[in-house]
Amino acid sequence: MNGQDRSTTLHTKLITTLWDRGDIRSEHIKSAMLGVKREFFIPKLLKLESYIDRPLPIGNGQTISAPHMVAIMAEEMDASPGQKVLEIGSGSGYHAAVVSRSILPGGHLFSIERIGALVKFARRNLDAAGIENVTVIEGDGSLGLTSEAPFDRIYYTCAGPDVPKIVMDQLCDGGKLLAVIGPKYGTQRLIRFTKSGGEVEEEPLSYCVFVPLIGELGY
Ligand code: SAM
Repeated sequence: MNGQDRSTTLHTKLITTLWDRGDIRSEHIKSAMLGVKREFFIPKLLKLESYIDRPLPIGNGQTISAPHMVAIMAEEMDASPGQKVLEIGSGSGYHAAVVSRSILPGGHLFSIERIGALVKFARRNLDAAGIENVTVIEGDGSLGLTSEAPFDRIYYTCAGPDVPKIVMDQLCDGGKLLAVIGPKYGTQRLIRFTKSGGEVEEEPLSYCVFVPLIGELGY
């Protein structure tokens, strides 16, 4: 078996495992995850670990998320074709790539990242993976991205103390926001906020561990 066939087999096997475990629950997200090869987002020296279900270092003290966490968050966020999405924390660009496929055709994802080297890394990876509906912006995502608001969906890939009003105001009516709330280090919780008629409903989901949101309204 050549290297390309081997990576396709490992990729398919990983997605089947996530489906069997219930982390992927819909054909929509299954097809989005099958459409993104994680190896494009992994640093050269770790490529062989691309299809192992765990976070991996990507430099600057940051990590690419584990595939099961990307699957769980994509399912809970429930994005649809044509939607406009904001991601706070691009990292490698992998999570953005998966969500960007779930909003095709017509959708666009804006991702904001505070570390310049990772902005370049994510842009390069998304380009190599052939993803065309993601814009990576350098900046402090703790304030959201007012210039492109409102968004149908907003999600954090890093943990903060709360969701500030300035970010919640960037979510449109009927929109959903997934945040990771909790201490800077230790166990945090994934929370889904749904805005409807000016009211915001809050649903606690699974426990998790993410890197901290660093910035003006973060840690
Ligand atoms: N999901 C990403 C992936 O698949 O590669 C990994 C994201 S990583 C766990 C979290 C990212 O959030 C890091 O790249 C970190 O630099 C970024 N981050 C932390 N605070 C931020 C802020 N205020 N604004 C933008 N990005 C931030």
